[in-house]
Amino acid sequence: MNMAWHNSGTTNADLVENLWRNKLITQPVVKNAFLKVDRAHYAPSQPYEDSPQPIGHGATISAPHMHAHAVETLLPFLLPKVNDDDPGVIGQPGRPRRVLDIGSGSGYLTHVLAELVGETGVVVGLEHIPALKELGERNMAKSPEGRALLDSGRVRFRVGDGRKGWSEPSPGESQPGVGGAAAPDAAASEGEKKDEAGGWDAIHVGAAAATLHDELVRQLRSPGRMFIPVEAGNGWEEQYIWTVDKDEHGNVTKKKLYGVRYVPLTDAPK
Ligand code: SAH
Repeated sequence: MNMAWHNSGTTNADLVENLWRNKLITQPVVKNAFLKVDRAHYAPSQPYEDSPQPIGHGATISAPHMHAHAVETLLPFLLPKVNDDDPGVIGQPGRPRRVLDIGSGSGYLTHVLAELVGETGVVVGLEHIPALKELGERNMAKSPEGRALLDSGRVRFRVGDGRKGWSEPSPGESQPGVGGAAAPDAAASEGEKKDEAGGWDAIHVGAAAATLHDELVRQLRSPGRMFIPVEAGNGWEEQYIWTVDKDEHGNVTKKKLYGVRYVPLTDAPK
């Protein structure tokens, strides 16, 4: 993952082609999704460089190769599973996908995820800074495709503390107090059944967590997968990407992948 300069391009298509050639994107569906979302709508400067860019409020839009790897890692839990003959896709056939993007920042990855879950799915972008929640919405509204995702409710941006996860109804279910501090705690007390209906096939965390928060693991569906950078906590400011998988029986497996550098998952600034 250290050949960033070889991935950069002069257009969105060029950048995606380079990520493909360098095998950071390996799945054709992922390539298509990246081609559909113009990074220039989300990165205020050098959108086709393979590097993180500042977006204000101490946040950055992650580098394209990190977005690519996150999506490739979550892919079996993103694509709608049509029937049991779909071996690479994990989950119950016909069940609409539910995806949570914690620390949605620019909204770029939220948009790419929405392209993959298809028309029945829902993706929630969660931010603890209201101005960044609005930035994600504004960026997405720059394209007709993005506006359609917002208007249909297939993408929703919310304000909340990502360390606690999020509770959100599926399309067709009644809406809670929209946009406000909804009540993950209320959902938590209503037991496993409700969790399973309201939980997440995939959780992406875009900021480094102090720990592998249990509440996030709890909110994973069975099956489900989380992609999360976590501080090593050894005083060296090391962080590693972890995946947490929950199988169809509810068994949890945690895997440490590789070292990264993300902004921290913190309290909201006052
Ligand atoms: N995926 C985003 C990453 C933005 S940087 C992108 O590529 O654009 C990480 C984001 O996490 C920042 O926007 C920051 O505001 C947000 N964040 C940090 N702590 C958080 C918390 N506790 N809850 C929700 N969001 C948080």
